[in-house]
Amino acid sequence: MAVERTLSIIKPDAVAKNVIGEIVSRFEKADLKIVAMQMKQLSKQDAEGFYAEHKERPFFADLVAFMTSGPVVVQVLEGENAIALNRELMGTTNPKEAAEGTIRRDFAESIDANAVHGSDSASSAEREIAYFFGA
Ligand code: GDP
Ligand code: MG
Repeated sequence: MAVERTLSIIKPDAVAKNVIGEIVSRFEKADLKIVAMQMKQLSKQDAEGFYAEHKERPFFADLVAFMTSGPVVVQVLEGENAIALNRELMGTTNPKEAAEGTIRRDFAESIDANAVHGSDSASSAEREIAYFFGA
């Protein structure tokens, strides 16, 4: 397995719940290193550009409204198999279906306010890291 980098976002619901530290701690315990980190209030344009792949989905406007509803923590995680490992730690998109012990199961309320984002492939990781942190 190769050392990879992936983009993680702690979403506004989790920041509001005061669980930034608990979520970051799960990454660290899984041997993912935080190699970049920034707290940020996303603009509408930031959120629309980031989620451009979902532009045509019926929930796009709600997703952008949610992602701009409060500050987020954007970070780059690095480690062996980081992209898939982060997705595993996160759990499924709908927290009600997420496995026990996953971040979404433990900290998220609903399919829209679901605590974290994680890149889903090597190509999206590359695009998403560059989107927030440049080259
Ligand atoms: P992810 O990769 O697991 O985050 O899921 P997707 O890439 O499919 O969706 C991106 C984000 O859009 C999700 O994390 C949710 O915040 C949001 N989302 C997905 N499906 C729905 C939905 O049916 N309704 C709403 N309101 N938001 C959704
Ligand atoms: Mg996704």
